[in-house]
Amino acid sequence: MLVVVLSGPGGAGKGTVARALVADGDLVLSRSWTTRARRVDDAEDAYVFVTRAEFEDHRATGGFLEWNEFLGELYGTPVPDGDRDLLLEIDVAGGRQVLEHGLEALHLFVDAPDDDELRRRLLGRGDDPTRADQRVAEAARERDEAARLGYEMVVNDDLEDTVAAVRRLVEAARSDR
Ligand code: 5GP
Repeated sequence: MLVVVLSGPGGAGKGTVARALVADGDLVLSRSWTTRARRVDDAEDAYVFVTRAEFEDHRATGGFLEWNEFLGELYGTPVPDGDRDLLLEIDVAGGRQVLEHGLEALHLFVDAPDDDELRRRLLGRGDDPTRADQRVAEAARERDEAARLGYEMVVNDDLEDTVAAVRRLVEAARSDR
């Protein structure tokens, strides 16, 4: 099983890239659990939305492959129940846990071209200005950590080019097996 880890700031386009990869048909998107509130732009099945107590119960019984707290909310990947190649849309701390598991994995960091553009995209999808600023600052920390962990960095300037570049990286990881 190949695990493709897709990280990067919210607003950089990683969700759109993930949807394109899943539509190709050979990767299954893992559905994370989160304690954060549903956002207006969240798809119905974006997450399993749970309370903190529900999350902690599941964690206590070993139900998560990895989990992390991001800006005060808990997010976790349920332990996979199949053997199909998996796409995880998770933060860099989660990506590090996947590395530590020693799973066969490709780590990609999808980034916005620069901070101004990132902030603009975050506001555009409905984050308030304070939250957008927090996410831009968090993105800088994540970018450094991702580079340190050996993530492949992909700048999303043009969505079609980005999807094509990511497809090539996934294909290369598959043919390396
Ligand atoms: P958002 O609130 O924008 O949906 O997600 C915030 C951050 O949490 C993003 O970087 C997203 O990739 C990450 N995230 C989403 N699901 C998971 C998960 O299951 N595990 C981890 N570690 N991070 C996640």
